[in-house]
Amino acid sequence: MQEERMAARILDGRIIAASVRADLEPVAAAYRQAHGRPATLAILAIGRDPASSVYANSLRRAAAALHMDARYIRLDEDISDVDLRRAIEDLNADPDVQGILTELPLPPHLSQQVVAEAIDPRKDVDGIGIRNLGALFLRLPSFVPATCAAVLEILDRSEIALVSKRVVVVGASNVVGKPLAFLLLSRDATVTVCHIDTRDLAYWTRQADVLVVAVGKPDLITAAMVKPGAVVVDVGINVREDGAISGDVAFDEVSAVASAITPAPGGVGQLTNLMLLRQTLLAGDLLDAEEP
Ligand code: NAD
Repeated sequence: MQEERMAARILDGRIIAASVRADLEPVAAAYRQAHGRPATLAILAIGRDPASSVYANSLRRAAAALHMDARYIRLDEDISDVDLRRAIEDLNADPDVQGILTELPLPPHLSQQVVAEAIDPRKDVDGIGIRNLGALFLRLPSFVPATCAAVLEILDRSEIALVSKRVVVVGASNVVGKPLAFLLLSRDATVTVCHIDTRDLAYWTRQADVLVVAVGKPDLITAAMVKPGAVVVDVGINVREDGAISGDVAFDEVSAVASAITPAPGGVGQLTNLMLLRQTLLAGDLLDAEEP
């Protein structure tokens, strides 16, 4: 019997991002008008990692397109925990900053705990602090990590239902896989999380109605690992030896099996910055609402 081959619908991040941007423009403009200045996201980078300035520049461009401000603050590579905490506390107290993003991973001598505890939860627009992650666990309103918000935005805007679906998340990091699993659980999906020590990964991925992959290994997911008709979301960003960027999913072969798939690049990554900026605007409104 010949295997059924399908041409997957492409969940195009660029198109979805354009409609999100159109929705955010009036919100950003309203903030500017009310305050006489744009809503501002502070990006805290530690050390001189070139990838970090590339990332900060892409955030700045995304902010500029919405006439928002992204303030890049670079701290010395050898900064101490105490000074990092102080830098974060300065931003917490700065009335011109509505959102704070600390670039991760931190250099090894710094404690993750400092960042997780020090950022004011009201400005923690990438949802990496203890308070926001706790709220996510409890299904209370919270800022969620931007990458996770980007995955949900793509699924929602593509009208892919999650209730009762079997969703498999490959990758269990604190910033992507784990919070995403809780968000999907909050949408009443049946969620399985796989990671590097998962035995027989293909067995689990083949169960998925919706498969989300956030690992950082090119071509980890092949067609044989995907149930025909599944929706596949590729979060991975990998730089190949020839310099080309790819995701974690073998796109050509998997798109012949899946019913819908995000390209990488051109998928989730297109939305991540916008999600941070959207949460910065929301933080601005929530901070305003607190003022007497
Ligand atoms: P990470 O290195 O912190 O975590 C990787 C996870 O994958 C771990 O849980 C690990 O157990 C798991 N893993 C590793 N090898 C595996 C294997 N062979 N099989 C199954 N699981 C395996 O990475 P991260 O920060 O969560 O990022 C994951 C990927 O997503 C990276 O490629 C990163 O560049 C990308 N990313 C993309 C965006 C975006 O906007 N598109 C944002 C953040 C991260």
